[in-house]
Amino acid sequence: MRKKIVAGNWKMNNDLVATNTLISELIKKEKTTNAEVMIAPAFVNLLEASKLLKYSSIIVAAQNMHFAENGAYTGEISAAMLKSIGVNTVILGHSERREYFSEDDNLLKQKIDKALDEHMKIIFCFGEKWEDRSVDNHFIVVENQIKNALFHLENENWESIVLAYEPVWAIGTGQTASPEQAQEMHAFIRNLVKKHYNSTISEEVSILYGGSVKPENAKEIFGKNDVDGGLIGGAALNADNFMAIVNAF
Ligand code: PEP
Repeated sequence: MRKKIVAGNWKMNNDLVATNTLISELIKKEKTTNAEVMIAPAFVNLLEASKLLKYSSIIVAAQNMHFAENGAYTGEISAAMLKSIGVNTVILGHSERREYFSEDDNLLKQKIDKALDEHMKIIFCFGEKWEDRSVDNHFIVVENQIKNALFHLENENWESIVLAYEPVWAIGTGQTASPEQAQEMHAFIRNLVKKHYNSTISEEVSILYGGSVKPENAKEIFGKNDVDGGLIGGAALNADNFMAIVNAF
């Protein structure tokens, strides 16, 4: 069955003390929910997060990883390193990685293949810029991002893939896609997967929405048929806000 997921991307926020504090607050506020809850702290705090959440159902994810096994890649982190500290989920393709670190579809494809080889779960992000949407190019941009990075995968690989539609113009801007815009794109994505694979895969894959989700708008966005949860940036840095979004289901 398709999972409901709420994932918090902490980006380059929270030092060790702040990581500890926020996780302790999340544990205190944790309730039984029908959504899978994930957080993605900075690399240096992943081990601490894994330890603190050992007895919690909150899953720890990484914000990125390298595609190589190991070697001369100064400043990078491998899949094996993540797995060795109990992190089995990774966010790939975030628009900030694409924009500021020149990550393109070809590089992302290599990262996806490595993560799958290592039996990791992937939250794959993609989404159009405003300049694409303003000329009605958003569907073609999203289609290409998905095709280029994912359509070489085997059917069974899809069990490890979560899709995250994040219109770039809505990330960290306070400007949210309307629930109708999110639904329209999510339905398009599901249909794309159905056409290339089959309806079992397209119905099973979770498609998250990301872009200025807050406690005030989560319920309406998550209420749409093809929206299976959210990837949350700013609002994930506050335990009350994040848990209110989780509880919006
Ligand atoms: C994100 O960075 O993935 C994101 C959705 O950020 P925000 O919620 O702050 O828009």
